[in-house]
Amino acid sequence: TEDALRQSQKMEAVGQLTGGIAHDFNNLLQSITAALEMLRLRDAKNTTHDVERLISVAMTSANKAASLVHHLLAFSRRQPLSPTPVDGNVLVASMRDLLTRTLGHAIQLEFVLADDLWLTLCDPNQLESAVLNLTINARDAMPGGGKLIVETSNVQQSDEPIGEASELNTGEYVCFSITDTGTGMSPETLAKAFEPFFTTKALGEGTGLGLSMVYGFASQSEGHAKIRSEIGRGTTISLYLPRYHGVVKTEITEFEKSPELRA
Ligand code: ADP
Repeated sequence: TEDALRQSQKMEAVGQLTGGIAHDFNNLLQSITAALEMLRLRDAKNTTHDVERLISVAMTSANKAASLVHHLLAFSRRQPLSPTPVDGNVLVASMRDLLTRTLGHAIQLEFVLADDLWLTLCDPNQLESAVLNLTINARDAMPGGGKLIVETSNVQQSDEPIGEASELNTGEYVCFSITDTGTGMSPETLAKAFEPFFTTKALGEGTGLGLSMVYGFASQSEGHAKIRSEIGRGTTISLYLPRYHGVVKTEITEFEKSPELRA
């Protein structure tokens, strides 16, 4: 669609622009941080509290800027996709510890995994970082605690096909949904949430790149992404990735690997 095209052109422009700037900026920031560190060490004995406090303020800002630049670099250096057949249940289940640590104690984590989930064709590393990104956003939307549900399901959408019909796109998708019981999004936020650099977070807290990366990953995988959100109730973000129809080669068994074991 026109929207998707506009989005991907925007992402590409953003990627090229930020890659160049972020790299130079990173070097500058490193020299600022190093200088501040030297200042702090050299004058440690006769520094007044005021000066110490100012150095600390400058350090904090430099660190926030460094983290922003780090995100920008990661964004512009996005790896090309390497799609492989993926068992989504295995992938999300393997993230349990990481997600638990990310969410902290006040947020409960629940998995609702479909029996007989279809295989999906996508880049497993990027699917993992998408799920992590969505989890971080969900955590940020639940400052007072709450619940996060990671759900997988088989979805048949051929009644309302989305995007071009192709060999891959038969209307069958593996759906990954991340649901939180957080603040929800206003209609204004909802309308812009997938746009690169759109953020409602404070400077240094958010880059506005998380959801646009998730969106880009889904569409490059010939799938799509969708947000459902209600103020005060929470948000569900769903990734629809194409079903993989081929047969997966089974693992080579020990028996096959070691001919000397035969007969
Ligand atoms: P960032 O998290 O750096 O702000 P994102 O692109 O990931 O960038 O998200 C853009 C905006 O969408 C956020 O600033 C927030 O306002 C909104 N948002 C994203 N996820 C959620 C969520 N789970 N609940 C409420 N709002 C959200």
